[in-house]
Amino acid sequence: MGFNIAIDGPAGAGKSTIARKVAREISFIYVDTGAMYRAIALYFLRHHVSPDMEEQVTQACNQIEIEIRYENQEQQVFLNGENVTSYLRTEEVGNMASVSSANPTVRQKLLDLQRQIAKKENVLMDGRDIGSHVLPDAPLKIYLTASAQTRAQRRYRELTEKGIPCDLEEIKNDIEERDYRDMHRKTAPLVQAEDAVLIDSSEMTIDQVVQKILALYREYC
Ligand code: C5P
Repeated sequence: MGFNIAIDGPAGAGKSTIARKVAREISFIYVDTGAMYRAIALYFLRHHVSPDMEEQVTQACNQIEIEIRYENQEQQVFLNGENVTSYLRTEEVGNMASVSSANPTVRQKLLDLQRQIAKKENVLMDGRDIGSHVLPDAPLKIYLTASAQTRAQRRYRELTEKGIPCDLEEIKNDIEERDYRDMHRKTAPLVQAEDAVLIDSSEMTIDQVVQKILALYREYC
């Protein structure tokens, strides 16, 4: 059994950037579960699967095989044998993932895979339901959050720096809608696990959060 660290929190709290840095420091495998949900969303988009049509979803989930591999310590997601990692970060895929991840059949499909990976290796896994549902016995759980305003401003800066035109209010509304969907779905909603350590990164730099998690790891391991 590997040593598992769970990091959960809402969209845009900086989970993946922070988790990747912490994992490197302590030589853990970083597992980005959002990317797995995104790979299923990509399949749904490509095959015109409607996430609220149960029969279509069940049929699609039976056709889908997700596999995780690592290249230069970076997670690569394979969808039915194709490396789809570079297609996963678009708004279209993110929007579909936010909706399709609420479907219990989709969640069940990824649950076993996530647990299997964590069983074999020392992993730092991030997502929405890792500490509360996927790895309830993880010795260290973090709930990483920031205000919707801060998360929207970070996203706005990120897009603007890339030269992508965007609107702050629109981004904030989108973040709030995603939060609502994640927190109110019936299956494995986003909640802070009882034994998770809360970190609000609104007033913290990435490095401060990384250092805080490393300190917790040393305390817990
Ligand atoms: O974190 P990321 O934005 O890549 O996740 C994509 C979508 O997958 C999120 O909007 C969230 O609804 C969903 N997700 C989830 N459970 C996880 C990870 C992601 O429901 N463990």
